[in-house]
Amino acid sequence: MSRVYNFSAGPAALPEPVLRQAAAEMLDWHGTGMSVMEMSHRGAAFMSIHAEAIALLRELLDVPSDYHVLFLQGGAIAENAIVPMNMLRGRDRADYIDTGEWSRRSIEEARKYATIRVAASSADTGYTTIPPRETWDLDPGAAYVHLCANETIGGVEYHFTPDVGDVPLVADVSSNILSRPLDVRRYGLLYGGAQKNIGPAGLTIVIVRRDLVGQAHPLTPSAFDYGLQAEADSMLNTPPTYAIYIAGLVFRWIREQGGLKAMEARNRAKAELLYGALEASSFYRCPVARDCRSWMNVPFKLADPSLDARFLQEAEAAGLVQLKGHRVVGGMRASIYNAMPLEGVQALVDHLRAFEKRWG
Ligand code: PMP
Repeated sequence: MSRVYNFSAGPAALPEPVLRQAAAEMLDWHGTGMSVMEMSHRGAAFMSIHAEAIALLRELLDVPSDYHVLFLQGGAIAENAIVPMNMLRGRDRADYIDTGEWSRRSIEEARKYATIRVAASSADTGYTTIPPRETWDLDPGAAYVHLCANETIGGVEYHFTPDVGDVPLVADVSSNILSRPLDVRRYGLLYGGAQKNIGPAGLTIVIVRRDLVGQAHPLTPSAFDYGLQAEADSMLNTPPTYAIYIAGLVFRWIREQGGLKAMEARNRAKAELLYGALEASSFYRCPVARDCRSWMNVPFKLADPSLDARFLQEAEAAGLVQLKGHRVVGGMRASIYNAMPLEGVQALVDHLRAFEKRWG
């Protein structure tokens, strides 16, 4: 068996010890004689897995007691509709910050439900920046302010939490949750799909302040009503049981590594190593402004795009896979989530240098 360094943007690499434990427990979880996949979600065994995963996530992110942690389904694209359904709370408008492909998708979907104002946009820089907070034109009557904390495709990330006054701040954290500590209290709602930093696709994490739930639009499907799901402990419908089990193992792995402070140190080192290598050469170029470069998704281009296919081919031969950039922006993209070890990034940097030597 050989494992590659997988730079996929998601579904993405998982920590190897987690996969090994899942493999060892596949046929018989803790003497139950069955796989987690085969368990009733209401049985004692799965209930303990579910409760532990929620408790670990609360511990890692230091989620205050006045927030619900919900394990739902539908992914972040479904949340683009579910968020306005739950968060408008009788109001007719919300503010969105436009920083690239994923925030644009959120805006388009939300427009089905309310008047959406783009309070700030980085379209004028080709989505290579985050608009500075002082340029945001916020509406104090907005039901909420929405942003995408890390644009997985464009590779721009907020390295600050904006102050938006009393209006609840809503963030899509699909691609940077658990990459470093975050002050949950600054947000009304955090949501994200699990398939980047947490576990398999199919699980959606929602962390929402308690006072914001219970006023969903009457046509909100029950399974997507945060208040009803909170009352049912996220079990109003059958939850994605296996994904929750793996997420729990990943949470435990993060805790064993030293928690989010340790993840932050590791992710900072990985990002510095890779961006440093890109900066050091005119053969490669990162289009994103320095102060908002993502620690998780690193887009870069070759000065000569006719070498792109060869770059990918040689990378793959070196065991470095899934480096092709998203079709919207082209070029390359290295996603270096929590599960990507520093050695993987070093192997990529070695490849960058060797390839430049051969073809530069
Ligand atoms: N938001 C962000 C920031 C993402 O990276 C993605 C997936 N790449 C999505 C939303 C959409 O997620 P999903 O396809 O799981 O609904």
